[in-house]
Amino acid sequence: MVKRIAILGSTGSIGKSALRVIESLGSDYKVAALSAHNNIKLLAEQVKKFKPQVVVLTNPEKLDEFKKLLGNTQVTILIGSKGLSAAGSDENVDVVIAAIVGAAGLEAILAAAKAGKILAIANKEPLVIAGQLLTKIAAENNAKILPVDSEHSAVFQALQAGDAKEVSKIILTASGGPFRGATKEQIQNATIEQALAHPTWNMGKKITVDSATMMNKALEVIEAKWLFDTPAEKIEVLVHPESIVHSMVEFVDGSVIAQLSAPDMCLPIQYALTFPHRVKGITNHLELEKIGSLTFEKPDMDIFRALKLGYQVAKTGGSAAAVFNAANEAAVEEFLAGNIKFVNIVELIENCLEKHSVKKDATLEELLFADKWARNEVKECLNRVM
Ligand code: MG
Repeated sequence: MVKRIAILGSTGSIGKSALRVIESLGSDYKVAALSAHNNIKLLAEQVKKFKPQVVVLTNPEKLDEFKKLLGNTQVTILIGSKGLSAAGSDENVDVVIAAIVGAAGLEAILAAAKAGKILAIANKEPLVIAGQLLTKIAAENNAKILPVDSEHSAVFQALQAGDAKEVSKIILTASGGPFRGATKEQIQNATIEQALAHPTWNMGKKITVDSATMMNKALEVIEAKWLFDTPAEKIEVLVHPESIVHSMVEFVDGSVIAQLSAPDMCLPIQYALTFPHRVKGITNHLELEKIGSLTFEKPDMDIFRALKLGYQVAKTGGSAAAVFNAANEAAVEEFLAGNIKFVNIVELIENCLEKHSVKKDATLEELLFADKWARNEVKECLNRVM
């Protein structure tokens, strides 16, 4: 059986890796739909190479230019968020890879869940913002959610070793970021340069700052809660600077099953596509003797307050996580623009969470409203103090 794949966000880093993986997997895997917002040059190249039936351009302003680039290539062009939802729920699609950063792809992911697709979720927002709604819709429509985030893929792989009711805890590993082992004073005086100097990964600026605050792990705790239907109390974060163990599951008998591999997103993408099978892939194999030793330590929750907040938000549920995520995005933007200090990021998030009245069982509209409100509240808060 050929698997027909839609990639929502095909010109970003995950989208590009996904295309490399699909190419390497051979003729049993076919690209059915691609989408992008701004990078029409690369999108047109991808359409010519992978020949999907459908391509979605979410930014309608670029349509004329895009058509010129496509020339006489045979493909159905869909526009905007409606087009994205149509592509995600198309009857000629089996698997949807969700790789659009931010809240922009949410509606399409929910549409794909309603249509009972296999959802390979690469970005954090769908599960962080709309985890409750998405898992509910997926369960009602027999849609399967497979994680592509490296930690959650590792947990998912480790979970194959036992039954869900035999799990005693999930252990998410974290690199610890540039401020691993830092004191309160060092965090107080942290500069943009220090926050952006990640020891092991070279990533986008926003994600690198999230790694410095450990906000990325806070978001991943919330993501894991929904993906694996596990309360936050049973999800532990362990700092592991080598980034070789991508996460672990502890079972009731005391066995800990870990997933180790070279840090390469192609592996979790491939596992989501070939699950429940494994095939030879394009990821380099580990040479553990060259790595020598692996170390683990507990994160300091008083230094990394975002992580502590993440646990509270995971317990609160409802619209709190939408506010948590959006306030962080807005605050990190202000930090990168040089308008606030590193420590202010978490303070701004705390302020938003305090002011927000949580909506339980929130609808998509209510979640998007909470998202907008938090972004605005960050601005208002800065206006008040400056
Ligand atoms: Mg991750």
